Amino acid sequence: MTTEILILGDGTGGLVVANLLAKQAHRENPDLRIKLIGNSPKHTYQPGMLFLPFQTPGYRTLADIQRDNTDFIGAGIEYVRERITAIDTTARRVTTERGEHGYDWLVLALGCRTVVDAIEGLPERWGKRAHGFYTPDSALALAQALANFDGGDLVVDIAEMPIKCPVAPLEFICLADDYLTRRGLRSRTQLTLVTPLTGAFTKPICNEMLTGMLAGKDIKVVPNASLAKVTDTHIACPDGQTVPYDLLVTIPPHEGSDLIDDAGLGDGLGFGLTDKQTLKAKKAERVFLLGDNTNVPTSKAGSVAHFQAEIVVHNLLREIAGREAQPLADGHANCFIETGHGRAILIDFNYDIQPVPGRFPLPVIGPLSLLKETRLNHLGKLAFKPIYWNMLLPGRPIPLVGSRMSTLGKQMGVLERRH
Ligand SMILES: Cc1cc2nc3c(=O)[nH]c(=O)nc-3n(C[C@H](O)[C@H](O)[C@H](O)COP(=O)(O)OP(=O)(O)OC[C@H]3O[C@@H](n4cnc5c(N)ncnc54)[C@H](O)[C@@H]3O)c2cc1C
Repeated sequence: MTTEILILGDGTGGLVVANLLAKQAHRENPDLRIKLIGNSPKHTYQPGMLFLPFQTPGYRTLADIQRDNTDFIGAGIEYVRERITAIDTTARRVTTERGEHGYDWLVLALGCRTVVDAIEGLPERWGKRAHGFYTPDSALALAQALANFDGGDLVVDIAEMPIKCPVAPLEFICLADDYLTRRGLRSRTQLTLVTPLTGAFTKPICNEMLTGMLAGKDIKVVPNASLAKVTDTHIACPDGQTVPYDLLVTIPPHEGSDLIDDAGLGDGLGFGLTDKQTLKAKKAERVFLLGDNTNVPTSKAGSVAHFQAEIVVHNLLREIAGREAQPLADGHANCFIETGHGRAILIDFNYDIQPVPGRFPLPVIGPLSLLKETRLNHLGKLAFKPIYWNMLLPGRPIPLVGSRMSTLGKQMGVLERRH
């Protein structure tokens, strides 16, 4: 009998799950029918939106960071390009603008989105005095605004958490430092990061290191400050604190998918209530979630979606075979943090173990360094684009990097000394 698997969302998580499943089905389970539904004709390499505003070579136009989504649909996957309008987990049916699709198992990878309208004063200034880089169009508009910038107060503001890739605003301000230095404008620009976090990052050791690094670059950090309002001259926090700006770069509040809340699977903000170890939905059977639309306590990052995809496929196939899903997901995240001037930091962590110094992926040999600014880490970040297109999305294994975090090469003693 054929088993129908429906995957919703044609971004990073949806494509990786579909491709991994199709390969598995081809090898061992030819009775699987895999259908992927999503509405993106183009797939954006989202980390590229960080470099687009600075017109970094290789990241100058949308064509540099986008490919046709159909390029990544492997053999054995039926791709339906339609907008999804409803999910019914009782009838096991998904509705799109053009029809209905039944399923035996459902995978949700609907991502999350930025909501400019959530902040008073932001919509009317968006693309004029206030900019962003979390969508392709806003990143392009910001490139123009940066080219016209002539010095003054450049403020990078995180409206509230959670956001995708929590290190991206930090990377942006470091790249701005580099860019303005090259243009001879740095000495007449005050760079300020305004964040709802207690410092540059959430995890203590990394936070200390990154906050110190920003201070070394003369970048001011305003912590514990979420965004309430934007005017023509300043931003305001809920406690009345204000920060003046000449050019504002905001990461607006994020929301998951209304489809998830409407189906009774969400937390009220569109993020699915997800068992953080099995990646099963908490509110319905035969539903798995991965990527940005979950509420699990790890970064919303492509690396996380990729690691989770392997576990979702493993658990899905176990359930189809009549066995229980295993608690394998550990929140593994692996992120390069571009720090400007041709250097980057690499962090590797999970739900329980915060980023620590060390070598990656191999002990002693590395060649990459954890929690340290190096040139090689920067080259690693640049190498990630071809790896994303040619290995990650098509579901090819990435050597030495597992879906669960390894402590090999990590200076775990640092954690004990802090206790
Ligand atoms: C500026 C920036 C820099 C980043 N840098 C990094 C980085 O360096 N490293 C890293 O690991 N991650 C990074 N990320 C994060 C990473 O890109 C995301 O976490 C990742 O793409 C999440 O994958 P996803 O499948 O959950 O969501 P997405 O890739 O966003 O996919 C969601 C898909 O669902 C579809 N969809 C949603 N609703 C519907 C509907 N109603 N009907 C049909 N289809 C629908 C969308 O069209 C989309 O294709 C960055 C993100 C940004 C914005």
